[in-house]
Amino acid sequence: MSSLLIKNAEILVTMDDNRREIRNGGLYSENGFIHNIGKSNELPETADEVLDLSGYIVLPGLVNTHHHFYQTLTRALPAAQNANLFNWLKTLYPIWARMKPEDVFISAETAMVELALSGCTTASDHLYLFPNGSRLDDEIAAGKEVGIRLHASRGSMSLGESKGGLPPDSVVDSEENILRDSQRLIETYHDPNPGSMLQIVLAPCSPFSVTGDLMRESAKMARHYGVHLHTHLAETEDEQEFCLQKFGYRPVGYMQSVDWVGNDVWFAHSIYVNKNEIDVYAHEGCGVAHCPSSNMRLASGIAPLREYMAAGIKVGLGVDGSASNDGSHLLAEARQALLLSRLRSGIEGFSLSADKVPPLMTGRQALELATRGGASVLGRKDIGSLEPGKCADLIAIKLDKLTYAGALHDPVAALVFCAPQNVDYSFVHGRMIIKNGQMLTIDTDRLIEKHNHASLRLLQ
Ligand SMILES: [Zn+2]
Repeated sequence: MSSLLIKNAEILVTMDDNRREIRNGGLYSENGFIHNIGKSNELPETADEVLDLSGYIVLPGLVNTHHHFYQTLTRALPAAQNANLFNWLKTLYPIWARMKPEDVFISAETAMVELALSGCTTASDHLYLFPNGSRLDDEIAAGKEVGIRLHASRGSMSLGESKGGLPPDSVVDSEENILRDSQRLIETYHDPNPGSMLQIVLAPCSPFSVTGDLMRESAKMARHYGVHLHTHLAETEDEQEFCLQKFGYRPVGYMQSVDWVGNDVWFAHSIYVNKNEIDVYAHEGCGVAHCPSSNMRLASGIAPLREYMAAGIKVGLGVDGSASNDGSHLLAEARQALLLSRLRSGIEGFSLSADKVPPLMTGRQALELATRGGASVLGRKDIGSLEPGKCADLIAIKLDKLTYAGALHDPVAALVFCAPQNVDYSFVHGRMIIKNGQMLTIDTDRLIEKHNHASLRLLQ
């Protein structure tokens, strides 16, 4: 048995159902699960590991609900800096097609270290290209090294240019191979138990890169094994036009036609939705991964975040792929969500009552999306808040930084109103992975060198 005692935190943000914020707070955990939480003087007096966090704010570890780790190799590429989604993809597909298994591994490590330093303790990733023998296993191996929880999505593309899809035929795969590999991954790795460090998700890439058949078959397989489903949806007007032309439906209607709605489904982006489609999400229990930075970067649009929240839809945050963000800073994404939501005008026919969702989203709501919101989107009941029975996934940030000077009257809001910071401590399942701002599990300097080398080789 290993136990952990955190004490004397300036303020401990629980994100529990009552949203308690505890001054001079702390928690005690055993074997990765929280036993006690409260004022420091109410907790057990000692443990195997004791950490005094006087002067720090403590939060539940943040949850990232959408990413493409491999894209860290192609950040800020000049040819793709100033393009909308379809042109951006067409520029990058041939470059990504040169990746090797070691590139998938290194890029996944880089993205997860960056995420971890920004406060993330659980990440979902969507890998949908498997060139030159790459496998989802390469990313899973990287996740074990970094030490955060991973929801690894087995992405896929089966609709190449010759069949009317967007990607070149060279990067798509046969449906038979995709389904066989999906089954192998679920049977090898998926752990649905409380405290799970690794789950598998089935994730055909988007309406314009997979067939309706593959969507249906993936949904059947996912439901047979009880794993979740994820895809990109309603991201751009181009995609909406594609769906209307090719399938005769708007994106959400197309999802309904291929059995892709339900509690086990979450969509990235979902910008182009109308009132009826929001009702479908609410009624069926679909979740949304909101990715504000990527949506701005690719000039895609602004998702109706307040409407989703008012309708009680599960919403989490995603930094999205590192070639369209071009960073993996999850706390910064919470700040983007806060700021961008203030610019979105309402949806026709949707009345937003201010008592449900205030006209201007609050800092605490943004942090809620990044924690319990993300957990609900991934279908996790054991993370997203700090309370007895839940996982000891927590982060701590020192408050006497220049960034927070003059903001200490409300340290919680300061986390997103002031410039986003890296965390000083991070624990995943009671295990310390960041200490004094330094990654304990990975040699970061060496990783940067290897990563830059891999990126250079890919672009030559
Ligand atoms: Zn994406």
